[in-house]
Amino acid sequence: MPTPVFNRHVAAIKPSITMAVTGKAKEMKSKGIDVVSLSAGEPDFDTPDHIKESAIQAIRDGFTKYTPVPGTPELRAAVAAKFKRENGLDYKPEQILTSIGGKHSCYLAVAALVDEGDEVLIPAPYWVSYPDMVILAGGTPVIMPTTSETDLKITAEQLRAAITPKTKMIILNSPSNPSGAVYSRSELAALGKVLLDSNVYVLSDDIYEHLVYEGEFVNILNAEPKLYDQTIVVNGVAKAYAMTGWRVGYAAGPLPIIKEMSKIQSQQTSNVTSISQKATVQALNGPQDHLAVWKAEYDKRRKHMVERLNAIDGVKCAMPHGAFYVFPDVSAYIGKSYKGKKVTDDVALTDVLIEDFHVATVPGTGFGTPGYIRLSYATSMKEIDTAIDRVAAGLAALS
Ligand code: PLP
Repeated sequence: MPTPVFNRHVAAIKPSITMAVTGKAKEMKSKGIDVVSLSAGEPDFDTPDHIKESAIQAIRDGFTKYTPVPGTPELRAAVAAKFKRENGLDYKPEQILTSIGGKHSCYLAVAALVDEGDEVLIPAPYWVSYPDMVILAGGTPVIMPTTSETDLKITAEQLRAAITPKTKMIILNSPSNPSGAVYSRSELAALGKVLLDSNVYVLSDDIYEHLVYEGEFVNILNAEPKLYDQTIVVNGVAKAYAMTGWRVGYAAGPLPIIKEMSKIQSQQTSNVTSISQKATVQALNGPQDHLAVWKAEYDKRRKHMVERLNAIDGVKCAMPHGAFYVFPDVSAYIGKSYKGKKVTDDVALTDVLIEDFHVATVPGTGFGTPGYIRLSYATSMKEIDTAIDRVAAGLAALS
């Protein structure tokens, strides 16, 4: 068989590292190894019952056929109402596109706008998928490094300096996966001012909107409404309603952009599963009481995890303000040795942790920030304690 020659953009991307680590942990578990996984970005809570019931009812009612590509009128209206109610943003149902997960929503925005040679600004640490989405579209990801002095956030000056005639888009993600950083209204207003003077589109990924423990969630359009015609807002039900497996995300934006994204989707996946659409209507329109309960639980775990990590010699863990991850700096351990072999980077370090100490974490390199690791606290206190015991033992074993 001839060696396949792949599309050059496909050849240039790599599999999602979070998916890879989570898969490895699952595989080890299936072999009977007791692995504690802090690698997945997935709530440990169950999808609320009223949402499940609506899906069961949809099946019973025979609501099991194709729907319009962008989603049912009922769902698009529910999403538009959510934006008005929770975010003070005005979108008509026609300006909403529902897709198979927030991941596909992000990809479609990139695919619709980014052309060969276009640059896309991506503040680091970033969600693992953004750069590869840009590469797939033929664009060039331009990574904007940050430091702990600015809480791993970019500044307006930095943004101004990074914009070139080739810059097509910036991807903002607040609260951030992996750092948990949350941009304040004034920080977003400062970024917004710079962006208004440019033709740069903003992709605002708000998937962790409901998980802000300190401060408030603000979308850049709340801080700078004049960016409306150059902003696409992405969100979804995965994190807020523990619906990761139902695969529903949505995007809102200027009508011509949403139409173009929908055109791509019509040739790729058609519509979101009809049953998941019914469940999402219920999620958005139904009771929201669980949000405060879950948030309070995550908040306890967040504080506990940060305290425990900072008690480990050489580990520096800032208190994240949102999402459900901590992102400690473990650079003090890079360059040490384990079993006579040098631990050259955070990837090697997380390998030691999973292989020999049976705790799955994700290396910061995957998020464009070497020297850090990401640990999720969307798991029970008991698991968190076991995991941190193992991380501590693993780090102590390095010399
Ligand atoms: N955006 C960020 C920052 C995420 O962390 C995730 C999931 O991990 C997503 C988007 C996509 O979520 P989904 O495709 O499950 O809706």
